[in-house]
Amino acid sequence: MVHENHSYDVVVVGAGNAALCAAIASKEKHARVLVLEKGPRHKRGGNSFFTDGAIRFAFSGLDELREVIPKISDEEASKINMPPYTEEQYYRDLMNATNNRSEEELATHLVSKSYETIKWMHENKIDFDLIYDNQSFVKDGINHFWGGLPVKTSNRGVGLINQLNSRAEELGIDVWYESPATQINKHDNEIASIEVNKNGEEVTVQTKSVVLACGSFEANKKLRSKNLGDIWDNAIIRGTEFNTGDGLSMAFEIGAQPFGEWNGCHSIGTDANAPKTGDFTKPGDIFKKHSYPLGIMINKEGNRFVDEGADFRNFTYAKYGREILKQPGHVAYQIYDSQVRDMLRDEYGKAEATCYKADTLEELVNQLDVDKDQFLKTFQAYNAAVQDGDFNPAEKDNKATKGITPPKSNWALKMEKGPFYAFPVTCGITFCFGGLKANNKGEVLDPNNQPIQGLYAAGEMIGGIFYGNYPGGSGLMSGAVFGKTAGTSAGRYAAAQKQAEF
Ligand SMILES: Cc1cc2nc3c(=O)[nH]c(=O)nc-3n(C[C@H](O)[C@H](O)[C@H](O)COP(=O)(O)OP(=O)(O)OC[C@H]3O[C@@H](n4cnc5c(N)ncnc54)[C@H](O)[C@@H]3O)c2cc1C
Repeated sequence: MVHENHSYDVVVVGAGNAALCAAIASKEKHARVLVLEKGPRHKRGGNSFFTDGAIRFAFSGLDELREVIPKISDEEASKINMPPYTEEQYYRDLMNATNNRSEEELATHLVSKSYETIKWMHENKIDFDLIYDNQSFVKDGINHFWGGLPVKTSNRGVGLINQLNSRAEELGIDVWYESPATQINKHDNEIASIEVNKNGEEVTVQTKSVVLACGSFEANKKLRSKNLGDIWDNAIIRGTEFNTGDGLSMAFEIGAQPFGEWNGCHSIGTDANAPKTGDFTKPGDIFKKHSYPLGIMINKEGNRFVDEGADFRNFTYAKYGREILKQPGHVAYQIYDSQVRDMLRDEYGKAEATCYKADTLEELVNQLDVDKDQFLKTFQAYNAAVQDGDFNPAEKDNKATKGITPPKSNWALKMEKGPFYAFPVTCGITFCFGGLKANNKGEVLDPNNQPIQGLYAAGEMIGGIFYGNYPGGSGLMSGAVFGKTAGTSAGRYAAAQKQAEF
């Protein structure tokens, strides 16, 4: 075995959004930083790579957005109505989505540091765009934004990961690909080194400070079954194949405390024919199917099973995946008619979308693997239950059904006009909610809630922020906020350690 002598002030495990933000923040504290990535270069970026880049943060209005998106011209700005999204609203949305279970210290940190972190990302050459599609509507020539999620990273997750890597390279941060971290070593109660399998060779890297930002365990079949239940074997992994819980195991071995909803995860309705794990040659979130509030969902037995219009999709999509998983065959059909077809999100028109289409409902149902009689009965009962009212997809319009279970609480249109469309969906798991206990400095805590000296965490690795559900766009924001925080803390700790040695 070849023994190489490697020594860094801070080692960051993972090369997704949280990790690269941590690495850049540590570098700003003058640390010598090494990033370890389990995957090869062409599969870098973790789940962050697969995102559409939607990122949720608090802001006071369009002026603050223009500080981070300077390309918005005065002319463009004059055609925008951008309501503020306050820290109070963000906090409330987070608490509503998680049934008030989000840990207060972490939730407050995420929300209160969100805008300043976006500004910091902008200063670090990350570009952002407004999300006109899906998050705004045009009325009298003005783009009205709604829902508190008007911004994405330019060119989605691919753009984010490319720009973060360019910045890391510019700052002189070393990145090792195909180099999973395997173990953290302690000496005299302090972190001393980390073991790495570097291109198949065991290497020890000396370091006093480690930031774990290597995702959760959604791609680990064993851990998924153990923590979420056997049924989760049937879920598709929407993102990277490399998030197998390595960082969690390494942290537990040196005394970290598990925290958060270990039997919960973020999962969505995704195309029933999506690949079993994320395909790095097909960037972007192209398999999701998020327009269900405009239609109805019917399972193989011919029954509806959720209130498709309970809220805006941003507040229901992350919990409906699990409801689809519970259906027979783990499949459901999203049904739409011609009135709403043009309003469906882009992903419905992609070549990758599985779609059945017919002029009549009877012809459509003949193409589907469902109980045909029950399907038609459910459909008729739904149409009969739809109440009068003004349909308005830009707000919760209370256009609802009456007398059926489950109800449809908003956007309930009678579906009568062919052609009709059916999109089969299954459950795609995004990431798991259980993780490590950390504080608002990004320090990993032991079972006595004391920081483990030199150990930090960020991104999906931190438990206790999301429970049961989450407000869309919060995963990237959490990764960036806690990545920056953990990286800054790790850089400071490394500097203090060096000073103490002199
Ligand atoms: C299809 C999809 C779409 C999404 N869309 C959005 C969206 O629009 N907005 C949003 O906010 N969130 C979105 N999310 C959620 C979001 O991706 C995550 O919450 C966030 O990116 C997690 O960032 P992270 O840095 O913690 O983890 P990741 O980005 O997953 O990075 C973890 C990295 O660690 C590496 N790794 C794992 N084990 C090891 C090891 N032992 N050693 C070294 N490296 C290791 C992995 O290879 C990976 O590169 C989406 C997720 C998916 C899958």
